Amino acid sequence: MVRLALILIVFTTGCSKELESLFYIDPQKSELYWPEDQLPIKVKLSESFTSNEQALFEEMVLEWEASAGCNLFEPSERVQELNFTKLSDYFYKDRENNGVYKPQQMIEEMDNTVLAASQLFLELENENDQIKLFRIIHADIVFNSYHFNFNEYPLEGEYDLKSLFLHEIGHFLGLFHSSDGIMKSGTGPGEIEDTISSLESDTVFDKYGRFPASDLAEKGISIPEGEKRTVKVILYKTVNKIDKAKFELLPAESN
Ligand SMILES: [Zn+2]
Repeated sequence: MVRLALILIVFTTGCSKELESLFYIDPQKSELYWPEDQLPIKVKLSESFTSNEQALFEEMVLEWEASAGCNLFEPSERVQELNFTKLSDYFYKDRENNGVYKPQQMIEEMDNTVLAASQLFLELENENDQIKLFRIIHADIVFNSYHFNFNEYPLEGEYDLKSLFLHEIGHFLGLFHSSDGIMKSGTGPGEIEDTISSLESDTVFDKYGRFPASDLAEKGISIPEGEKRTVKVILYKTVNKIDKAKFELLPAESN
């Protein structure tokens, strides 16, 4: 079995080391979740996916919901493709919508090794010795159709759309990469990983079914007033065996 290297690229934003470490995301010690008041999650699905592909997305949502044992998404709403060239624009220019997109043009943060990316915007809810709890406030999935072709029935050189939907929906729900299964970072053309493992199923069940995060939050320590900051995580699905992720503490917003 190929062991995946974990590369964490951390951008500093000129703030103090203590502040950075407070918001730093260690996948082993961080729990990302959608708060109860955001469930079921509203998601927009780009019209650049064919109607069959849109139906496939809904099916993959049902797979995760079956694992979680609860309803996680509202039926997705169709939306015109957004012709952004930066991943960050899906937040800064379209903040009110969580979406799944397949733009035709090149996306700045996605080179020819990246098949798709999920970006999550988070706020630190609570932390204790064992775990940091981050609430998800916005998420997008963006496919790299400038460099790659995706298909429900992949032809030579194409990538399996079903596997990719499952993987990216996993991130959308707050799962990190793992060395195996749906959530492994790398894949190859025609490779199919379409069975949610028992470990992945347990993870999503713990997150939303068994221990809703509101229960977890009670066990932590409150974050000091005035330290409310947004953290961005981008998790990339790649064509090589490199686990590519970026974490960035965003500058404080002035209201
Ligand atoms: Zn991924």
